[in-house]
Amino acid sequence: MTSARTRERLINRLREAGVSNERVLEVIRTTPRHFFIDEALAHQAYDDTALPIGYGQTISQPWVVARMTELLIEPGTPAKVLEIGTGCGYQSAVLAALCGSVYSVERIRPLQEQARRRLVELGLAKVRLKHADGGLGWNSEAPFNGILAACARPDIPAELLAQLADGGRLVMPVGDRLQKLTVVDRRGDEFTTRQLDAVRFVPFQRGIQ
Ligand code: SAH
Repeated sequence: MTSARTRERLINRLREAGVSNERVLEVIRTTPRHFFIDEALAHQAYDDTALPIGYGQTISQPWVVARMTELLIEPGTPAKVLEIGTGCGYQSAVLAALCGSVYSVERIRPLQEQARRRLVELGLAKVRLKHADGGLGWNSEAPFNGILAACARPDIPAELLAQLADGGRLVMPVGDRLQKLTVVDRRGDEFTTRQLDAVRFVPFQRGIQ
């Protein structure tokens, strides 16, 4: 159920759904998604669906992870990336395989601790994790060449835009119940925003838990 054939089927499905970046597809092929979810759900790990990870949260659908990653690295591989919403750590692992350094913030402590254990076990201890409200970004490590949020809100937090490096790109679902994948490019003090695919994410909440 976690065989090479099952994974290949997922890659084909992502290609059909429009993902075209070969580096991203290769990382999705080699990242063990089953390792980031409950064993009881492992047989669904390579289906293109979101799955529960506890605390009312989900591991994002592989298409969403692939699409957001593809958008994030489109202008060039970012040297330093901030992720909001570590969750189970799967997207962090994908980013770590492609980007220079990865900083990831999660507001639910048990999820953050479990993600840390999993990333360390996979040899990805270099991913820096913090238990905090991602709405504030990670100021002491800013600026970031890429920022990716895995939770949605109707507005983009000003702190995240302020922590985006010149030439950097932010990718985030924006909206209330209906959301659009949104890309913001920074050039100097100018921010260019584009709204792309319709998506459905868990909410970007305030405070820590
Ligand atoms: N990146 C994960 C997706 C996890 S779901 C993956 O690989 O599948 C989104 C996560 O965002 C949840 O774990 C949720 O707790 C977290 N989240 C929501 N609001 C947040 C905030 N303000 N700061 C940090 N994390 C937040």
